[in-house]
Parts: sequence; C-alpha cells; structure tokens
Amino acid sequence: MLSDKEKIRYSRHLLLGDIGESGQLKLSQSKVLIIGLGGLGSPVALYLAAAGIGHMLLADGDILDITNLQRQILFDSRGAGQPKADLAETRLSDLNPEIEIDVIDQALTEEDLAEYIPDVDLVLDCSDNLETRKAVNRVCAEHRIPLVSAAAIRWEGHLMLFDFRQPETPCYECLYPADATEPVLNCSTSGVVGPLLGILGSMQALEAIKLLLGMDSDLNGRLLIFDGKYHQWQNFRIHKKVDCPVCGSC
Ligand SMILES: [Zn+2]
Repeated sequence: MLSDKEKIRYSRHLLLGDIGESGQLKLSQSKVLIIGLGGLGSPVALYLAAAGIGHMLLADGDILDITNLQRQILFDSRGAGQPKADLAETRLSDLNPEIEIDVIDQALTEEDLAEYIPDVDLVLDCSDNLETRKAVNRVCAEHRIPLVSAAAIRWEGHLMLFDFRQPETPCYECLYPADATEPVLNCSTSGVVGPLLGILGSMQALEAIKLLLGMDSDLNGRLLIFDGKYHQWQNFRIHKKVDCPVCGSC
C-alpha cells in the first residue's frame, strides 16, 4: 500500500490507467543501476528518482568539473571539485526522500558489473565509452537483465533497448562486433549539444518506467537515431547474429 504522502507525491501517476496505485507500487519495489552520471545519467537519475523508483544504485567515479555543467543538469557550480556520485546522492535524496539511493564512487570493472547487475531489475547504460558499453551488454545478456542504452555526440543521439528476458533479443555486440572499426569519437573530443543528452536521457527514463511497469516496448532490439539539427528520427531493427559471441546460439 502507498502511504498518504506517496499518494500525494505520485498523484499524476495514479491518474494514469497504465500506472495507478498497483503500477506505482511496482516502481517503488524496483531496483535499477545507472552507470554514468553525465549528460545522459543526469536526466535519467532525476526522472527515475522523481518517479519513485524505490531503490537506485548510481555508479560514477568522476569528480565534477566545470566543463561538465554545460550539459550535466544534475549538478551546479557549487559542486565543482567534489565526487559526482556523492553530489548526486544529495540532490536526489532532496528531490525524493521516499526512495533508497546507494552510490558507487568508482568506474565499474566487468567484475564489479557481474556483482551488481544480477541484483537489479534493469540497467541504464549512460556511460561515455565503448569498452564499458560492451562490458555492460555482456553481463546484462548473461543474466537476462533488461538494458536501456544511449549515446550522443555533436547533434546526433542513439537509443537502444535490449530486453534480455526475451530469448530472441539481439545485443549491442550484434550491432558493434569486436572486429568492426571502433568509433573513437566521444563528447570530450568532438563536442555535444546539451539538450540532445536531455532528450535521449529522458527517453531512457521513459522506456525504463515502461519496462518496470511490465508494459511492452516496441523499441526492443531496435536502434533509434535522432538528428537534433534537422529533427529527424530513424528506427532500425538490430539483427541478431547467430554467431554473436555474447547472445548467439553457436
Ligand atoms: Zn549479440
């Protein structure tokens, strides 16, 4: 049962037929892992805390730098020089004291991921590098934990959703196999426009809420590409590779 305080706080959710009190209880009993508290992780963490996700695990090993503030809306200038994980915990606890927040103030190794991921209902990959994305994909696929992944650079954003509870779901490795030429671009060398990260991060949070509610997502196994300059969306199906070393059958 929701408390009276929770009924007031989440009243706009309770009005929705797809959520209601039973849906809100599902959210309050959910546990998610957010990897990276940057331009994507900021809106993801804010919206999921506000939505009443009962237990949030936040991982980021960085110290807040003034160059982060152009896009990382979870933080403000007073926090420069402090660990982002600690700043996020304070900000999100102020936003919603009804939820539990744990922080991991270090970059996660694949060993760490294997420890944390089996214990959560869903993972949001908001990291900024290919190596982490691939490691997160491997561990999520192995333990059949749904993964909502995004990336953005310059004016272009990518969103991918892999519901590994469904056996026919492809994976990130199917899209970017190990022998492919690895994209070396990242926002620290190529730049990115801030609101683009807000759009993609908000979409990650939206898909996470739907998955935690048990709603279907037509984005499973798809890559959505957003061109922020011309406001165009492209939607591709990711083909599952039978010889994929992560999700393949041979
Ligand atoms: Zn695969």
